[in-house]
Amino acid sequence: MTKDEVLKIREEFPILTRSVAGRPMIYLDNTATSQTPRRVVEEIDRIYTHEKANVHRGVHTLSQEMTDLQEHTRERIRRYINADSIEEVIFTRGTTEGINLVASSFGSRFKEGDEVILTVMEHHANIVPWQLLRDKTGIVLRVVDINDRGELDLDQYRSLFNERTVMASFCHVSNVLGTVNPVEEMTAYAHSKGVPVLIDGAQASPHMLIDVNAIGCDFYVFSSHKMYGPTGIGVLYGKKHLLEEMPPYQGGGEMIAKVTFEHTTFAELPFKFEAGTPDFVGIAAFSKAIDFIEEIGMENIAAHEHELLDYTTSQLVKIPELRIFGDAPHKSAVISFLVGHSHPYDVGMLLDKQGVEVRTGHHCAMPLMDRLDIPGTVRASFAIYNTIEEADSFITALRRAAAILS
Ligand code: PMP
Repeated sequence: MTKDEVLKIREEFPILTRSVAGRPMIYLDNTATSQTPRRVVEEIDRIYTHEKANVHRGVHTLSQEMTDLQEHTRERIRRYINADSIEEVIFTRGTTEGINLVASSFGSRFKEGDEVILTVMEHHANIVPWQLLRDKTGIVLRVVDINDRGELDLDQYRSLFNERTVMASFCHVSNVLGTVNPVEEMTAYAHSKGVPVLIDGAQASPHMLIDVNAIGCDFYVFSSHKMYGPTGIGVLYGKKHLLEEMPPYQGGGEMIAKVTFEHTTFAELPFKFEAGTPDFVGIAAFSKAIDFIEEIGMENIAAHEHELLDYTTSQLVKIPELRIFGDAPHKSAVISFLVGHSHPYDVGMLLDKQGVEVRTGHHCAMPLMDRLDIPGTVRASFAIYNTIEEADSFITALRRAAAILS
């Protein structure tokens, strides 16, 4: 991407012109959430102003228009991830709810002693739902370790499969290390053992092309708010035959075919898993975020973010005592680091005082912090609208912070 192209993109994000601590704000917390282009905000405004009516219930015009808008997004998502049918695209509140849905509904078939394979680099969203299931059913969690570069130990991964293994659930991209896992290879191996796979795609869907058919996974989950879309919306992709077999996750309106006090039958897919009124406004506006991504092109987004990653990394390693966690050859634009013995919060505070917004702490990955034997990290993460000049300002600010703390 040329500098002018990136500057043009930035014009869609008024928030990027604000200041923090009297300086131009540099937003490098995109892993936690990305900013939202004007077209998404305008669509939310337009719908609340002119379109709002509940979906799937009315014969009236507004309700039908609103339903069409929601279902248009479902089709956009289907294409975005190359799912076979819209029945495989379930709207959720986010990645977290998607994993809870699978653990609770698909997991209801698991028995005491059955084993679920996770990895040490998982976000709490892909740990705690399985622990809740463990407490209920007595399943056993097996955990894949990482090597010094922050890559999964694939030999160990393969060795964990046995006749009790019922599920493998792992992230596509680590939100701390940036490691891009070989999800196709891992899925193929699990399938060769007859084991279904869930992939936490929260950190992949904004940064790379996703093709659930090529990956071959059984479930894939992600969140809109990390993809330039509204908050509170996510997607669960599931293979149709599995979703059909699974019991509903929640009961209520929208997800039923017929209800009597004696017996209830459930709606067809995808509605069986969408109890209650969804955030239909946000879902409709999510399609504008997909437009935004597709207009730029995922190859261009990935190339620009990699340029930022490579440049920033090459400058950071020159700072004395700076340690980067995760240097896998296949890495997303996330840099987790520590400076000497400084606490990540102190570094984060000093960066904020210079207008640089980074995340500090355990990043909802406490087991990974334990594995690395650190209290947390400072994490800078990039999106399409970040510039090399911002990377330079961040590096300068970090040098100042490091000098103050040393
Ligand atoms: N998994 C990963 C890898 C993440 O980075 C996140 C968000 N930080 C989540 C799951 C949870 O996403 P959400 O809060 O949108 O449900």
